[in-house]
Amino acid sequence: MKKRFRYFIILYRVFLVMVLVAFISFKLSFAIFDTVNASTSGDWDAFWDHAKWMMIFAFALMPANILFSYLKADTIKRIITRMKTDYLSAVFQKNISEFQKDNNQQYVSAMTNDFNLIEKDYVEQIINIIEAIVNFTTAILIITLISPIILLIGLGIVVFNVIISTLSSKPIKKHNKERSEMMGEYGGFIKEILSAFHIIKTNDLEARIVDNYRDRSEKVQHKKYIIDKIMSFIYAIQNANFSLIFLVLMFVVSYLTIQGVILFAGVVVVAQNADNIVGPVSQISEAVPRIFSVKAIFNRIDQTLKNQTVYEETLGFDNLNTNIQLNNVSFSYDDNEILKDVNLNFLKGKKYLVIGPSGGGKSTLLRLLRKYFAPNEGQILVDSQNLNDIKKIDYFSKIANIEQQIFLFEDTLRNNLTLYKDYSDEEIYDAIKRAGLEDFVTKHPDGLDHLILDNGKNISGGEKSRVAIARGLLNHAEIILLDEAFASLDPKSATAIEASLLALKGVTVINVSHVILEDNKSLYDDIVMVKNKKAVLMSA
Ligand code: ADP
Ligand code: MG
Repeated sequence: MKKRFRYFIILYRVFLVMVLVAFISFKLSFAIFDTVNASTSGDWDAFWDHAKWMMIFAFALMPANILFSYLKADTIKRIITRMKTDYLSAVFQKNISEFQKDNNQQYVSAMTNDFNLIEKDYVEQIINIIEAIVNFTTAILIITLISPIILLIGLGIVVFNVIISTLSSKPIKKHNKERSEMMGEYGGFIKEILSAFHIIKTNDLEARIVDNYRDRSEKVQHKKYIIDKIMSFIYAIQNANFSLIFLVLMFVVSYLTIQGVILFAGVVVVAQNADNIVGPVSQISEAVPRIFSVKAIFNRIDQTLKNQTVYEETLGFDNLNTNIQLNNVSFSYDDNEILKDVNLNFLKGKKYLVIGPSGGGKSTLLRLLRKYFAPNEGQILVDSQNLNDIKKIDYFSKIANIEQQIFLFEDTLRNNLTLYKDYSDEEIYDAIKRAGLEDFVTKHPDGLDHLILDNGKNISGGEKSRVAIARGLLNHAEIILLDEAFASLDPKSATAIEASLLALKGVTVINVSHVILEDNKSLYDDIVMVKNKKAVLMSA
């Protein structure tokens, strides 16, 4: 989000059209001046001549203004789309471990609420300010040509208003930041109650939840009320300020006309342009506090994107050659120590079964091997190289993760299996067969093109696991890490699929499972017991 300036380069198009509009307005003002002058001196020929130009410029203003409005809307659309896209790309730069720790809702909130505010209070306001400056400069130029004294007054107005705007933006800034934080939490709460729909209904928790929701909504609305209250106050001061400006301006102009310093035609032109003195000043006074108020939101967004630990990975990774070794590895979630001084050696091509009590740290051990988290102490050495130093992108492409929580995209079975990479149909069918997914494919007439609905609503838990297993097999990974992958399969299919995985030559398999399928037990080379913060080999 830093270097926001680059988003605004595209504004040059709007700026050029603004200058065109300003130029036409400038010509129009002097055509009016000449027309009125001709009329007060009773010169018909000159009158018609100038009036003709007056009409031409007035009509030319219309398409120029339409073009301006169109370009303004288009520019806002482009800037916001780019900012949002860059934001999401930056989210994917976050470390997995840190992303898991955060409340996801803050990203949702940034991409919805915060970007709405950025659009209205930042991007639109920056364009408004540029527009105001162009209009103001043009009006000042026109009026200066009529009478330079009025220029001095104009400058006085600008200084006065800048001071007022800066002072009045202070309290709003703090409230906007607090509101944006509140919206993040509020969104998280809503997401939680909606995903707990079943539990709430079946346990008669509706009243409690509704009460809680009312309290939270009241708080959020109250914050908005406070912001609106302060804003109305600021607008009231500014309105009084503008009336004053207009009165002072008209007073000076009338005085100068009586003194014979300017012509009557000059009064007409100043009155016609007064809007472009008062209007821009009001636009700027409104825009400046809004722009400053968004600063807090940008800071918060930048904060959500920041990785606390930035570690430069320097080593590539082709394939596992010998082993993955854990040397005195300890790991804690915050203060909760899960593994302590773990020493293990996983050899290439061997098959390991990881067992242990629930909550013992089996999944955590896998997360360390998957490079989602780094050990707090000790090292994981992959072919004698520290896993911390190995580039994520290389490592991830060589391991297959078959997890408990399987995410399915709302897309065809094919794309859910290939994850949008190119594989031949032959390869896909081979993986399907070995993952025991054949029945599922033949059951549907559209086969691989069968559409999986919203995160797998139309597919069973067991079928989901098989999709995950087929995905793992398909990318020909040489390291397969499974976490309770067979838990939702019947023992017969689980045994068959597990056996086919354990038969893969040269592939290192580390399977975390709380159920041991006796038929396959002998196919494992070793069993690892994770318990009491330790992980030890107990030969199979
Ligand atoms: P297992 O897979 O053996 O059941 P886990 O490795 O999932 O155990 O969890 C081990 C312990 O770590 C549990 O007490 C669990 O509450 C805790 N834990 C797991 N994941 C997290 C996390 N992301 N943040 C904090 N604590 C966690
Ligand atoms: Mg687990």
